[in-house]
Amino acid sequence: MAFETITKPDDVRASAVLTEEIRARFVWDDARAMLDGLPTGKLNIAHEALDRHVTAGHGDDAAMTWIGKEGARRAFTYANLADQTARFANVLRAHGLGRGDRVFGLMGREVELYVAALGTLKAGMVFSPLFSAFGPEPIRTRMEIGAANALVTTAAIYRRKIAAWWRDLPSLKLILIVGDEAPEDCVALGPAMAAACGEFAPVPMDAEDMALIHFTSGTTGRPKGAVHVHGAVATHAATGRYALEMEPGLRYWCTADPGWVTGTSYGIIAPLVNRVHMLVDEAEFDLDRWYRLLQEERIAVWYTAPTAIRMMMRAGEEAAKPYDFSALRFLASVGEPLNPEAVVWANRVFGRPFHDNWWQTETGGIVIANTQGMDIQPGSMGKPLPGQVAGIVAREGEALREMGAGEIGELALRPGWPSMMRGYLHEQARYEKCFAGGWYLTGDLAMRDGDGYYWFVGRADDLIKTSGHLIGPFEVESALIEHEAVAEAAVIGLPDETAGEVVRAYVCLNPGFEPSDELEKSIRGHARKLLGPTVAPREVVFRHSLPRTRSGKIMRRLLKARELGLPEGDISTLEADET
Ligand code: AMP
Repeated sequence: MAFETITKPDDVRASAVLTEEIRARFVWDDARAMLDGLPTGKLNIAHEALDRHVTAGHGDDAAMTWIGKEGARRAFTYANLADQTARFANVLRAHGLGRGDRVFGLMGREVELYVAALGTLKAGMVFSPLFSAFGPEPIRTRMEIGAANALVTTAAIYRRKIAAWWRDLPSLKLILIVGDEAPEDCVALGPAMAAACGEFAPVPMDAEDMALIHFTSGTTGRPKGAVHVHGAVATHAATGRYALEMEPGLRYWCTADPGWVTGTSYGIIAPLVNRVHMLVDEAEFDLDRWYRLLQEERIAVWYTAPTAIRMMMRAGEEAAKPYDFSALRFLASVGEPLNPEAVVWANRVFGRPFHDNWWQTETGGIVIANTQGMDIQPGSMGKPLPGQVAGIVAREGEALREMGAGEIGELALRPGWPSMMRGYLHEQARYEKCFAGGWYLTGDLAMRDGDGYYWFVGRADDLIKTSGHLIGPFEVESALIEHEAVAEAAVIGLPDETAGEVVRAYVCLNPGFEPSDELEKSIRGHARKLLGPTVAPREVVFRHSLPRTRSGKIMRRLLKARELGLPEGDISTLEADET
């Protein structure tokens, strides 16, 4: 192996939260026992995250420090957040919303997003976070699928992305606008919160009641709304503690945006349930700002992503030299393959390696991880956490074959952990297709080595990961063909040193249109407007025709293989397997 194992010093290994003893005897009831619960076997994520701590005398403990883009600083105790979320729950109630109603959040990392998420859960309603950089099209599709009843957003986002169409969505009854003023037919959140009561008893929920909808992309068809339940909080409690070393009072920073699942599970729920003091930075990645925050906020546990880590590496070790990282105890990474170089680099620069871990929207929480107590094989995602059984399988028609050590196959998990999705909204058949032979099939290709470490190999489907964002090619293709010049489109991800992959589109033109630089720009501009900059293709390439299977499906993998100069092999079989 090109990279040597990173052996943990004895003191680090001995201080690890997840001991061999816990590993050996863990059952999911141990995670449930970490929760407080509500009378008669009920529970509520917001109670576990906030109110229980206040009742237990920790109301004055620091819960969240928020740093604004321009450097503003706002500090919240557990009591403050319990009060704010109670007000938010009362605002929803006052506007006629009730248990089970769907509240969507669409804004950057603003305080109100955190309050809205937990306030919605407190009220027994369902929260669905949307990525604020999405264009109007992905937002509308997701709010339609989720039958949104309320939306919390900012005036600027409302004007640019919502105002034109929301009256066509019959389920949508309430739009809350952050700040003191709101456009016509919307409600200003500021005055509504000020007038609301700061008391609200979290609604007692069953463990199986829906709490969150996280949208994720599919290769074909519309995005999938993965349904998660209140009982999932047991996974968040346990994995926050065991995979991310959380403990009360610890300074923690998750850099993910709550518009994606990591930013909710580990940027809101797990840290607060574990009573840590979390940092929220409103700004996007900026090297010096990040290094300064790590130093000044004395961050002990830092959970970030490979794209950002690669950007730090490109700036060189010198850029990190002026800073003091002595508070850092544990560094973790998720969302994309973490280059082995990055693990070793961090060990030099921060004095600690990055600990890669793996999970996905559907699993709701971390499944495979490098934990503090483990030696690290740079490039490996780690080993299954306690309570998880993983395998590598090959689909053979209807049957599955389990693969041995060193063989590449699809990463599969034995279902049954608390935060596993309970379905895709309105898509039972698509959900059932994820299971076979008692396994949940993740759609990822991986390999397990002889020591039980898992290694990511690639996606088994055509989904694209760019800067940690999962993008469905179909959604991009659908937007492209709305351009008057585009007859057909195929979208693939191509390797990129920083972003992991970048989105590239191939288009065939309608009669009467000729390829030109202006037309390429116009198509890219159109896609950006509809989809937002994260999802839109970075490049558009003109083609006379696109390769298709006999049944008419575009063969994206063939395009990709040709682009990368790979053997075309048995690509038609692969295409036929697509879900
Ligand atoms: P999402 O559902 O958007 O969180 O994306 C989940 C997908 O991201 C997984 O199915 C993987 O393809 C990829 N992913 C997540 N974590 C890792 C990791 N540690 N290494 C490689 N790929 C990862």
